[in-house]
Amino acid sequence: MQVADNTAVSIHYTLTNDDGDVIDSSIGGAALVYLQGAGNIISGLEKALHGKTAGEKLNVRIDAEDAYGEFMEERVQVIPRAMFEGIDTVEVGMQFHADVSDGPGVVTVIGVEGDDITIDGNHPLAGMALTFDVEIVDVRPATKDEMAHGHVHGEGCHH
Ligand code: ZN
Repeated sequence: MQVADNTAVSIHYTLTNDDGDVIDSSIGGAALVYLQGAGNIISGLEKALHGKTAGEKLNVRIDAEDAYGEFMEERVQVIPRAMFEGIDTVEVGMQFHADVSDGPGVVTVIGVEGDDITIDGNHPLAGMALTFDVEIVDVRPATKDEMAHGHVHGEGCHH
């Protein structure tokens, strides 16, 4: 059957950036299973897979805006060390959950200079075009529960 809203889709994928560096891959592991139309995966990849069938392969380059969004300079901020109350050592690369302008998100420490801590609230892949090499392994109708929950059930399910 074809990939359409409310189908559970299994894919194997390899994700690369424009330099050809592999960022992520399911090869050698379990296929990724997701619910089409529920925003489980980035919008550009959902669009590219729509209407495709099991066994098809595709290679698609997705602009940042349809992947993890543009890099936003205003999400990079310098804040005082005092805001990291209860944390003994603040180091570059540490990640924290925080309330950023558009809701809860993850911020990464990208600079430490005395009491000035520079944090970045952008997704690590923000501002990057992403290329997906995808093979569609299986497409099946989603169950009523899956549609209600907005995600697939089965192997690896958390409930
Ligand atoms: Zn569920």
